[in-house]
Amino acid sequence: MTIDNRLPIFDGHNDALQSIYLPKTGKARAFFERTAEGHIDLPRMRQGGFGGGFFAVFVPSNSSTTGFPGAMPDSAATAYAMPLPAPLDLTYARTITIKGMASLFRLEADSEGQIKVIRTAAELTAALDREVIAAVLHFEGAEAIDPDLDALEVFYQAGLRSLGLAWSRPNVFAQGVPFKFPATPDTGPGLSDAGRLLVKACNRLGILIDLAHITEQGFWDTAGISQAPLAVTHTGVHVLCPSTRNLTDKQLDAVKDSDGVVGVNFHVGFLREDGRRDPDTPLSEIVRHIDYIARRIGIEHVAFGSDFDGAIMPLDLGDVSGMPKLLNTLRDHGYDEDALRKITHANWMRILRKTWKQ
Ligand SMILES: [Zn+2]
Repeated sequence: MTIDNRLPIFDGHNDALQSIYLPKTGKARAFFERTAEGHIDLPRMRQGGFGGGFFAVFVPSNSSTTGFPGAMPDSAATAYAMPLPAPLDLTYARTITIKGMASLFRLEADSEGQIKVIRTAAELTAALDREVIAAVLHFEGAEAIDPDLDALEVFYQAGLRSLGLAWSRPNVFAQGVPFKFPATPDTGPGLSDAGRLLVKACNRLGILIDLAHITEQGFWDTAGISQAPLAVTHTGVHVLCPSTRNLTDKQLDAVKDSDGVVGVNFHVGFLREDGRRDPDTPLSEIVRHIDYIARRIGIEHVAFGSDFDGAIMPLDLGDVSGMPKLLNTLRDHGYDEDALRKITHANWMRILRKTWKQ
């Protein structure tokens, strides 16, 4: 059965690589057997109709997996301001990044054809058609890349097809937003000269530039020079939930003008109006963000960006196996099968085809 008759989910962001092979505290969890840990493993992906997505390589700021030097706000907090972590050392970032990449390539090798690291749009279509999990290698932050961009060339040849210019941290190219609520995403400087060169190099190579986590100024600097559709892999609507991590209406409009896409994050703290990190959050909160984006900039520009394995999911969703519940909730809200086709995979496929140029 081809993807025209199904609704495979191609998702903008997951952090599965962090928990599968990278150490939480030296301990990795299974991926090919079903467990109750995290949000993603192969059996639960199959159950949820998950066709693939961006698999993030993330470099924590310290030994914890969250990247935070301090504790996260508790689930009842309605206002918080996390400190911006310090920049990372290049050698450290590169070492951890290569470990993350190796994890994905080992996963592909061990999967006996069930998972494929995707490098072209044709490979993506073929994988989704054949129900092979399509994994796009994504870096969440550019810290492993030197300002001369030598590593970018090498990582591209290895399979890098999507790059977040910054995580919520400064680096030599750009700066991310601190986690803060309520607050605007206009929290600091935009791209450096090296950052502008990085954007141009990504355009030349055909690497998707992910604008999740970046400051509003960094977003505008990129929008001003990038030749590719603007993509924000896992984010939300600022008007509905005033977190630094969410997009303003002006930013949403710019995504539309570039024929880009917004992946809606399922993290409850970026969905709820009160910003609370409370898993007791209905699936209609995800629909609220999808509705807003679809109404404001069009159904062609909204997709999923779950943040599975990296965030707090609504209890009703649980994990990736709960995706059919979300699709049914969207149906109940009036989304027809053509709209669901766009949200589940067609929009991401269009953006990747245009960006990768092959
Ligand atoms: Zn993230």
